[in-house]
Amino acid sequence: MRLLIFGPPGAGKGTVAQDVTSALSLPHISTGDMLRAAVASGSELGQKVKAVMESGALVSDDLIIDLVRDRIAQPDAAGGWMLDGFPRTLPQAQALDAALTELGGGIDKVIMIDVPDALIVDRLSGRRVCKACGAGYHATFSPPSTEGVCDKCGGEVIQRADDSSETVLKRLGTYADQTAPLIRFYESRGILERFDNTGSAQDTVAKVVAALS
Ligand code: AMP
Repeated sequence: MRLLIFGPPGAGKGTVAQDVTSALSLPHISTGDMLRAAVASGSELGQKVKAVMESGALVSDDLIIDLVRDRIAQPDAAGGWMLDGFPRTLPQAQALDAALTELGGGIDKVIMIDVPDALIVDRLSGRRVCKACGAGYHATFSPPSTEGVCDKCGGEVIQRADDSSETVLKRLGTYADQTAPLIRFYESRGILERFDNTGSAQDTVAKVVAALS
């Protein structure tokens, strides 16, 4: 099964994607996670994208398209995947179509995670993440038992540089301008399904898994 997961920053799509892919035994391919790993490793790619990511803008289409094309050609991706954070622009969506035509087949379903705008800013500005294992927390709603320390692995729990309130507004603008138009692109193919994620992520995960099973 080849799946995309869409939603504005702060909709909770990363959490939903992680649990849905683990329930369905599919690779979870998050371009944001791939880029953050590159930044953390100090690789050439990481050095190239660090400043752009911290500003809340998008990295170049060419760079991200190459990254995804390579990733979905890996052996573990042969049976399907869920792409999280890609495509984010029309050229990326077209490049994905072209890559899938080469590989044979297309996208089976696009999962759209919806939450009202007002909730997004609250969620993002309180969002915290473990630097070591990626576990997610919220400063008010679900803090780790000891401030700054991950319950799961003891790693350092931090705020992402691009979750500061100024950058959050920039990221929401980028989403509205460049990514939201893709909703129509997939809706017109009849493969997009919307899921409200205002309540518990576990309920949303159960609904998505049921819709895909
Ligand atoms: P995310 O974790 O998906 O919110 O991604 C974090 C940041 O990585 C974004 O704000 C962009 O700077 C960059 N990024 C991730 N995916 C893409 C993409 N498909 N195209 C361009 N930039 C991306």
